[in-house]
Order: sequence, then C-alpha cells, then structure tokens
Amino acid sequence: MAVHQSDVLIIGSGPAGLTAAVYSARANLNVIVLEGIQPGGQLTTTTEVENFPGFSNGIMGPALMDEMRQQAERFGARLMVRHVDKVELTEQPLRIYADDDVFETRSLIIASGASARLLGLETEKTLMGYGVSTCATCDGAFFRGKAVAVVGGGDSAMEEATFLTKFASKVYVIHRRDTLRASKIMQDKAFANDKIEFVWDSSPEEVLGDREQTGVTGVRVANLKTGEKKDIAVDGVFIAIGHIPNTSIFKGQVEMDEAGYILTRDGTRTNLPGVFAAGDVQDNRYRQAITAAGSGCMAAIDAERHLEGIADVHSE
Ligand code: NAP
Repeated sequence: MAVHQSDVLIIGSGPAGLTAAVYSARANLNVIVLEGIQPGGQLTTTTEVENFPGFSNGIMGPALMDEMRQQAERFGARLMVRHVDKVELTEQPLRIYADDDVFETRSLIIASGASARLLGLETEKTLMGYGVSTCATCDGAFFRGKAVAVVGGGDSAMEEATFLTKFASKVYVIHRRDTLRASKIMQDKAFANDKIEFVWDSSPEEVLGDREQTGVTGVRVANLKTGEKKDIAVDGVFIAIGHIPNTSIFKGQVEMDEAGYILTRDGTRTNLPGVFAAGDVQDNRYRQAITAAGSGCMAAIDAERHLEGIADVHSE
C-alpha cells in the first residue's frame, strides 16, 4: 500500500476539480487530483459547449476537459485515476483511501460532481447499456433511423431530445407533468422540431425488451391523471431526470443538505477545517461548467489561505 502526501488533494476532475488544480499547482503547492471513474467529469459526455466564455465558436466537451487537464499538469499537478473508498477527515493529516493507496493531505477539495438520477425501475437497470442510456451524446449514434424516448422535462431532456433528432426517426419526450421545467429557449427549440412528440402527464412503468435477444423494444407508460397505460415502441430510452451528488463516502463527516449536496459557507468551506467543496457536489442551482470552474478557483484560493494559516500558527 503506497502512501502519497500532498498539500492539496482534489477529488474529481471536472471543471471544478481541474480549475482548483490549475490554481493550487500554480501557487506552488503539491497537488494531487484523484480523477475518479469518469475522468473529465460530465462534460466528457457532452458534444459542443457553446457557453463557456473564451470559445467564440464553441468547443467540444471532451476537448475542453483535455485542455484543462493539460493546463493543470503544466503547473505540476499529479493526476491519478483512483476510486475513493473511504475518507478520514476529522483530524490532520486528512486521510483518503483509494484503491490500494493512502493519500495524506493537509487540505482537501471535494469536487466529485453529480451522477445521473435514475427512475428506479428494475427493467431500467437490467437494460442499461442495452438500449437504456443516460447519455445521448455517448449513445445517440446507435439509434440512426430508429425511434427513441427521452424521460424528463428539464433542460437536459430538451437538449438530449433535440440532439437525438440528428439520428433518430422519432423522439418521444415522456414527462410527468403537462408543462416543462426547461428554459424557454430550449422548450421552443424542442417544440419547433417535428421529430419530437411529447407524452404529457406520464411516467414510465417498465422498459420493455430483453437483454440477450432484442435489447429495448419499447416503454410502458402510465398516464398519471387518467391511470391509462400504453406501450410505445422504441429502441432506446434516455433517462434525463436530473442528477444526484456523489457524496456518499463523505456522509457522517461532511455536512450536507437533505438531497446530499455538501453545505458550504464563507466561500467554499465545509464544516471541517481544511476541507472545501466546489462544483456540482455543492451546487444544485446553477450546475454550469463555468460556475463549477469558478467555484474550483475559489476553493483553491480558500485552501491556499487555510494552509498559510496553519504555517503561521506553526511559525509562532
Ligand atoms: P432538472 O432541471 O432538475 O430537471 C429534471 C426533470 O426530470 C424535471 O422535468 C423533473 O420533473 C423530471 N424528473 C425528476 N425526477 C423524476 C422522476 N423520478 N420521474 C420522472 N421525472 C422526473 O435537471 P436537468 O434537466 O438535468 O438540468 C439540471 C440543471 O442543468 C438545470 O439548472 C438546467 O438549467 C441546467 N442545464 C442547462 C443546459 C443548457 O443550458 N444547455 C443543459 C442541460 C442542463 P418536474 O419538472 O416535474 O420536477
């Protein structure tokens, strides 16, 4: 079991984690980034990012994350692909256990992001990867000329539905209410697309098909107002009903709200000294790449000040 030491350990490698890494490493601190199981975070599952300032013609999500990674490494941050199993954050040095390694650090920035929320259906689980997906960008091209369904009524669902019309012959949007949560501009785009058909007030009860032979063949939906059930024939079902923060390993140590988002105060501080949080793991309101990057910068500055404070105490 190898023991690694750092001034700043960052869990997560999305825009929050990598921006924190750029700032901390550039401040001459010893920085390790544990990249997690999805290096680059959620942006690696998107296509074009048009609203990240500085790219007037847009940039592909994976390319943007590659740039951030290289920028962090240029200043000496060490990026390691590790899955964190356990943390001990109540005394110094903070200890993070990941795979077979132990990481001892003087400060920690939690930037572990959020993951796709699922409906909780048994058949959604068994057919995941066999027609059920949480990422249209990753899997959309498999559905050329086919019918698919998108579940959800937010910006993600509208974005995925619109994107899927590039490949699919038909896209059903299944939403549990009769009005959308999505922003007006995204709604308008979806409403104007004649390949998209809305299935209102409805919720999937079962994904139809089987894993070995057919993959997904349809989705059984129930109308929540009338109770009426119907089967819609589709080859793919994309779940776009929001995200849940990746915070389970911090439970009982780091304070969170009832949904599991880490509570920050006075900038990016958590309830524990030397522990900071940035990005989607502590933000269920804005959830943008640029706000995540901004809070990663804040966390790096907060961690640096915290470390300077400790150094001051020691030198007294
Ligand atoms: P969201 O805004 O939380 O929307 C989730 C949608 O899923 C809602 O319509 C919700 O229904 C539905 N839903 C939630 N749980 C459900 C369940 N168990 N069964 C059925 N339906 C369920 O999530 P999001 O769309 O992922 O967006 C998250 C944030 O990212 C938002 O702030 C959004 O603006 C932003 N975003 C922006 C862009 C963009 O601007 N390009 C793209 C994607 C996301 P109800 O409406 O009934 O609650």
